[in-house]
Amino acid sequence: MQTMRKIALITGGSRGIGAACVRLFACSGYAVVFIANRNAEKAQALTDELRTEGFDVSFRLCDLSDGAQTAAVIAEILRTWRRIDALVNCAGIAHIGLFTDMTEAEWDHLFAVNVRSAFSVTKGVLPGMISRQTGAIVNVSSMWGEVGASCEVAYSATKAALIGMTKALAKEVGPSGVRVNCVTPGVIDTDMNASLTAEDRAALCDETPLMRIGQAEEVAKVILFLCGEGASFITGQVLGVNGGIVI
Ligand code: NAP
Repeated sequence: MQTMRKIALITGGSRGIGAACVRLFACSGYAVVFIANRNAEKAQALTDELRTEGFDVSFRLCDLSDGAQTAAVIAEILRTWRRIDALVNCAGIAHIGLFTDMTEAEWDHLFAVNVRSAFSVTKGVLPGMISRQTGAIVNVSSMWGEVGASCEVAYSATKAALIGMTKALAKEVGPSGVRVNCVTPGVIDTDMNASLTAEDRAALCDETPLMRIGQAEEVAKVILFLCGEGASFITGQVLGVNGGIVI
């Protein structure tokens, strides 16, 4: 019997952890549609590269902090692909600064990009998963959502919100056959950490039992696992991918 190809929707696919997911899911047999925002050129280059290798990859541009735009893009994706088997909510931004310096607008924007985006995308995709009684969702949180980071209070709060969303939604949709899990990466070598100095990086490596910074592909592998058959009895879990920096 021929098995139907699975379809993955990955947000934040233009760069970093999301781009590593796009590559890995495509190479693992998924048809992939990913969402990018400002980096259309990077998204196009990644798509072209993977298509040249024979993989089924497409992308859409969307500012996921805009609920109406997100709803329209997800509706179009569902009209085109018909169903999503795996959803990876990876898009996110950081904000570094003192809590007392942060404005209400900055706080709201961070929550819109990091949390409301996951709400909007998941809300669009879930009804299909529920009606098919199958599907896997992985939210990309952060170790800071578990332990909190000084000068990243809002970011830590958004990432803690994703952990709460993961656990509660797993309980709500588990009876419908949908699994919802969460990864909490540690320090990963992406643009998000481009501002770290050599000293910062050395200090972080020192603090990490595995003595190094992680690679985006190492997070992508765990996300792929959580979406797949090997994780068929795993839901509502928060899986650290952090080299042991948080244990
Ligand atoms: P990154 O390299 O900075 O990439 C961020 C991605 O999010 C990009 O694809 C970007 O799209 C997308 N994005 C940002 N704002 C968006 C918006 N308004 N609408 C739609 N897409 C938007 O970041 P990364 O390091 O790969 O991080 C990916 C996820 O992992 C984030 O949620 C981050 O919080 C989390 N994380 C990262 C680390 C780390 O150390 N790197 C650790 C823990 C957790 P465009 O480029 O197209 O604008």
